[in-house]
Amino acid sequence: MAVDLHIHSTISDGTRTPEEIVATATQRGLYAISITDHDDVAGVARAQRAAADELLVLPGVEVSTDLHDAEVHILGYLIDCQNEPLLAKLAQVRARRVWRAREMVKRLNSLGVSLDYAQVEQIAGEGSVGRPHVARALFDQGVVGSQAEAFRRFLHKGGPAYAPRYKLSPAEAIALIRQASGVAVVAHPGLCRDDEAVEEVLQLGISGLEAYHTSHTDLQTEKYLRMADEYGLLVTGGSDSHGPGGPIPVGVGSVDVPDAAADALVIWAKNNGGHITAIG
Ligand code: AMP
Ligand code: ZN
Ligand code: FE
Ligand code: FE
Repeated sequence: MAVDLHIHSTISDGTRTPEEIVATATQRGLYAISITDHDDVAGVARAQRAAADELLVLPGVEVSTDLHDAEVHILGYLIDCQNEPLLAKLAQVRARRVWRAREMVKRLNSLGVSLDYAQVEQIAGEGSVGRPHVARALFDQGVVGSQAEAFRRFLHKGGPAYAPRYKLSPAEAIALIRQASGVAVVAHPGLCRDDEAVEEVLQLGISGLEAYHTSHTDLQTEKYLRMADEYGLLVTGGSDSHGPGGPIPVGVGSVDVPDAAADALVIWAKNNGGHITAIG
């Protein structure tokens, strides 16, 4: 048995639908997963419906925040997926994502790359639009030979076609998650490359740390397990899978995360009023 508490679906910039992710996780014998789409919770109920009693699907969402010069991603687990303030804020963030993707297309156009926003929109489909969709459009157009090249040449942070995303502050994101009965967890602290910023965020009402992540070395995992222990935090982990065809192809369940991570969330929900189900 294993768990994977960080997975993106077509609801954001993943390439697999929530139903496909559930089928894969079940095939691989996983015990629990969480769909953690960027700025959207619409995949949770779909995954839970598909999973029935085969698999535990915990509610999740991933929100990007800015602190000083660092980008800190915050995962919200066990949130009430029908919480009005949460849904309203996420809708606002998604609307800004559309504006920002249009801005990146404009920047590409001014660099002489011919691309229409409609192509990006079509690739994003129902999903909240992000750089991977722009990268795929560039690949489809033959502008780049791979999506990784699109990021290297154009879309990396500060790159020639990069446009910043509207981001909440860590305190705002944590408050939003908590008022929706959820638990706030710092995602992939190793990717922040700024432990001071991570520790600053830990003081703002964070309840967990994602010690296990695709991008973490064994040394980083150990370091963040120690940090979680020191701060008295829940430990979570996941693959951050975006499905095949994504810019970083890692599969569901590809990172070793102890089952205890999911159990601890379930216990937290029982003790603190968190939500295990999105429906009803
Ligand atoms: P966005 O939220 O629109 O800024 O896009 C962020 C997503 O882009 C991440 O979740 C990754 O999937 C992907 N991404 C970010 N940086 C890179 C990179 N350097 N190479 C490949 N994919 C990346
Ligand atoms: Zn993503
Ligand atoms: Fe992230
Ligand atoms: Fe993620």
